[in-house]
Amino acid sequence: MLFSQFANAFEVSNGKSVDIDLTPYVLVTDQASNMSLKAVQALSSQQWQPQQDQLQLQLGAKGRWLYVKLTQAGSGKTDRFLELANPNVDQVRLYHTVNGELVQQLVLGDTLPFSKRPQAHANFLVPFEMQQGEQHEFWLALSTEGSSYLPLHLWSSTELLKREQSREIIKGFQLGILCAIGLFSLCMALITGSYTYGYYAGYVLFMALLVSCINGTGFQYLWPNYPLWQQKVLTVVIPLVVAFGALFTEKTLLLKYFSVPMLRICRALTAFCLLLAVVSFGFSQHVALIIELIVAVLICLTLAVMTVMQAISGNKLAQLYAFSSLGIIIGSLLTCFQYIGFIALPVNPQTPIMIGLTIEIVLKAIVLVIRYNDERKAKTRIQQEALEQAERIRKVREDALQMEAATNERLERMVQERTLELEFTLRELNEANQKLIEQAQVDSLTGVRNRASFEKRLQAEGRISRRQQTPLALMMLDIDHFKVINDTYGHLAGDDILKQVAFNLRENLKRPSDLVCRFGGEEFAIILPNTDAEGALVLAEMLRETIAQLEITWDNARVPLTVSIGVSAAIVASDDHIKRLLSEADKALYQAKGAGRNRVWAHQVSTDNPLS
Ligand code: GH3
Ligand code: MG
Ligand code: MG
Repeated sequence: MLFSQFANAFEVSNGKSVDIDLTPYVLVTDQASNMSLKAVQALSSQQWQPQQDQLQLQLGAKGRWLYVKLTQAGSGKTDRFLELANPNVDQVRLYHTVNGELVQQLVLGDTLPFSKRPQAHANFLVPFEMQQGEQHEFWLALSTEGSSYLPLHLWSSTELLKREQSREIIKGFQLGILCAIGLFSLCMALITGSYTYGYYAGYVLFMALLVSCINGTGFQYLWPNYPLWQQKVLTVVIPLVVAFGALFTEKTLLLKYFSVPMLRICRALTAFCLLLAVVSFGFSQHVALIIELIVAVLICLTLAVMTVMQAISGNKLAQLYAFSSLGIIIGSLLTCFQYIGFIALPVNPQTPIMIGLTIEIVLKAIVLVIRYNDERKAKTRIQQEALEQAERIRKVREDALQMEAATNERLERMVQERTLELEFTLRELNEANQKLIEQAQVDSLTGVRNRASFEKRLQAEGRISRRQQTPLALMMLDIDHFKVINDTYGHLAGDDILKQVAFNLRENLKRPSDLVCRFGGEEFAIILPNTDAEGALVLAEMLRETIAQLEITWDNARVPLTVSIGVSAAIVASDDHIKRLLSEADKALYQAKGAGRNRVWAHQVSTDNPLS
């Protein structure tokens, strides 16, 4: 007795829209997939078990057959689709019999190019028609290295269309979010040179690739003609996702600053994952997947432990990061529980992990934004502090400059004051000097020039006379019998008379160039520039007369006073001539004295011809 006669048939009602999970009606037997249909049909019913009693999550199936039987209630022809809802299954040989007769035989699976499918769909769809009284049986010989979970679903075209719409939207939405976040992060990484964004971009984009592998979109749209790549892609992408996840975790938790040992562990795990991605080419997909899934779980656990440790030790980012992982944890748990039959949710078992993953990616993006914002704030704060510091420095420098300017000003003022004082002192000194010089030239008793002054002036006038060829006249004047005056009236009277004589001599010499000097004792010498002998004699006579007529009294007694004057004059020819001129005047004076005093005597004039 063939087992199929005992197997439950699912009766498909006609006319109604159909959306049926066939799992309760599917029977499974573990037989070699290369067995012939006849041999499988000949199996006894004990060798078949209901599919729902099987552990759904299994990796690899070298030999497994699935069987389902469908009948139609009600009349009319209906279009149906049998869906094999695992896009990654390697190979399925499908036999379709109607009332025991083989009507179609197909080979499905992702080891064939996408274009070989009866329907262009990520999952495998087998279209067929049903009529009343027909008994449709499907035998599926399954061989795969990946997940052997193969739910069968029966659809009417309208229901399938409806499901497709919502499914495509969800798939598009999920991949859209992942790609948008991934590309945005990639741009941020490229523009800002941020490793964190780079690792996150890698994580999200490889995650998007992984999702597109799992839901069949990748094979359908990205590499439909490369079934060989389709067999390898999963084992390459999984370690890459984990590697970038580890790198991103390391960056987000700032392990460089918080824990160097953890940083080293993360780097080592990353290197191991990258190695695994390369090495996986050498293994069969089945073995590679088993190794990678174990490694992925271990690494995720390690990262989770690190995150929790960091979160407990007060790392704020680690707390947020741990929170952001809740989505994927809950999603993974729900998916696992569903696969092992622990719970039954009205959704595909993959859905919770996919939703969880999307939530996780979004939350991690938020963590990244918070981290970025924290860094920005810190940078702003540092900038602000630097600005304040610069401002303080500027102020201090300004104060110092102001102080320096004030000090300079004070110094300058002090220097000016000192300079002024110095100038005053110098001027006073100069004046004093001038006075001293003058005093040195003046006779203190009479107020006329002294002997030294006379000699200097005589030299100068002598040279002028010689140069200009003008006559120079000299007078030597001596008070007559002055000793007697002194003796008679006393020295004070003598001094007073000396003053009066000097005064009168000065008063009567009108030319500014004429000079009266006290030659010594009661003797005066007079220089008369540009004056010839005649002129000098006239002048000498006038002086003699003036003195003789002076009314000088001392102690109410008239003091008789006369002077004798010797005159010489010539155009000076040499320095010696000057001395000669002086001695000639002196001689003339003595001649005047000798001639009886109170008279003028000229040198040129012959001695026997006095003027008076
Ligand atoms: P003579 O007519 O020959 O010139 O006779 P004398 O007395 O004028 O000439 P003497 O040379 O013999 O005397 C000059 C006197 O003049 C001597 C001195 O006491 C006096 N005598 C010189 N200098 C001063 C002076 O500065 N003050 C006073 N009071 N007397 C002076
Ligand atoms: Mg004398
Ligand atoms: Mg005299």
